[in-house]
Amino acid sequence: MNKPRIIAIDDEAEFIDMLKNYFAPRGYDIEVALRGASGIELVKDKKPDVVLMDLKMPGIDGDEVLKLLKSMQPSSKIIFITAYDDGGKTKERLLKTGAYACFDKPLSSLRELEETILRAANE
Ligand SMILES: [Mg+2]
Repeated sequence: MNKPRIIAIDDEAEFIDMLKNYFAPRGYDIEVALRGASGIELVKDKKPDVVLMDLKMPGIDGDEVLKLLKSMQPSSKIIFITAYDDGGKTKERLLKTGAYACFDKPLSSLRELEETILRAANE
C-alpha cells in the first residue's frame, strides 16, 4: 500500500520542518503550508489522505480551516496539533466538528502521530 499523502498546515516554520524531516525520509508524500488560506488551496489541489493542522494561525485559523475542509474535502482526515489548552474544551469541540484526533504541541511521540496517521488514512 502507498504511504498516506499528508499536508501540514502550521505557521511555525521550524515545526513544519520537523514534521517534514520525520515523514519525508520514511516515504510519505508530505507538503506544507504556513497559512490557513494557502493550506486550503493545497488541500483542494492535492486531496491528501491526512491534514496535520495547527489551531492558532494568523489569518484563517485552524477552526475555520476545519469547517471549510469538512464541506470541501470530506475524505481528508484532519489531525490537530496544538499547544492551545483550555482544559480540553476546544479539543472536544474540534472532535465534534469532525477532527479525527488532537495532539498536544510539543509532540511527545512522532511515532504515535505516525500510527494515528496510518489509522486515519486506512479508515
Ligand atoms: Mg500557530
